[in-house]
Amino acid sequence: MTTPYYSGIITNYVCTAECRHCMFGSSPSCPKEYITTEESENIASILEEAGTPSVHIGGGEPFMNFPALLSLIDALNRHGIGVDYIETNAFWAKDEDIVKNRLWELTKRGVTTVMVSSDPFHIEYVPLSRVLTLIKLLSEEGFDYFIWQERYLRKLIHLDHNRTYSKEELEKILGKNYITYTAREYGLGMNGRALAISYDIYPLKSVDELLKSPPCHNILSAQHCHFDLYGNAVPSGCPGLCANSRDYLCGDISTDKYPVMSRLVCGRIKSLFEYAHNLGFVPDPQGYPTKCSFCYAMRSFLSKNNPSDDLSPKCFYENIDKNLTERI
Ligand code: SF4
Repeated sequence: MTTPYYSGIITNYVCTAECRHCMFGSSPSCPKEYITTEESENIASILEEAGTPSVHIGGGEPFMNFPALLSLIDALNRHGIGVDYIETNAFWAKDEDIVKNRLWELTKRGVTTVMVSSDPFHIEYVPLSRVLTLIKLLSEEGFDYFIWQERYLRKLIHLDHNRTYSKEELEKILGKNYITYTAREYGLGMNGRALAISYDIYPLKSVDELLKSPPCHNILSAQHCHFDLYGNAVPSGCPGLCANSRDYLCGDISTDKYPVMSRLVCGRIKSLFEYAHNLGFVPDPQGYPTKCSFCYAMRSFLSKNNPSDDLSPKCFYENIDKNLTERI
């Protein structure tokens, strides 16, 4: 079994925000499903067996169901797995007493670090006042924290802290190209909801050119992968592609069970194209900006016309399809 390092646990795909760069295509329209006590125990025991020293916790927004978050941390503690940090967009930091109480519950469970998101994408959904309140209380309560990313908080701090800002307003404040500029500066993995941004950054490549792309080496590397609430492992940088956590860590990716992942692992994107094309997929004659956007187009087609266990969750494909359609 491979030992995952720097990996994360997705407690839920649902979120209070719908950020333009979100790797997992999270939004309020995702099912209100959260990691169960049983799945928390299952993933913690698999990670212990794999020798994982620690993980980070994220979503979606993990603080949308605080009891579920606590029961996950309890399971990780039972199996001796540390929590590197918990990611949050701070939407919940309204009432200081509630925040302090939650931080106390985390402290009791040995959690010491929180990552607070702040950037031109999150400010469309979360007022800065929540971010600033959480940072203040994290500091007062002795937590370590880091802002992802601090430079954007400095850029946005002069704005009204008590409201969100629309894309149109941010274009006036940060410049017409703030989305593509921020995406480049951020060093975004151009996947998930950022696939839509990649069309505004990269010229289209022909399918013939994309079919010559090098293999995707990172798929079975458990480094930086994620484990979701459905018991699946999601390779780093390949949202929407998954395999059962134990199968994934054991490298047991059979073609029958995982027709998409197995072809991407053993073959190249060409192998996936042959499979999808035989099932009726017709590529966009104009091409795609990146290998991953071509890959996504085929996976989206397959998730609707020939679903398999390695294409999940459904809400990911629904949300990304919606974003790609809206950009046209
Ligand atoms: S082409 Fe597909 S499998 Fe390869 S890195 Fe991109 S999303 Fe992952």
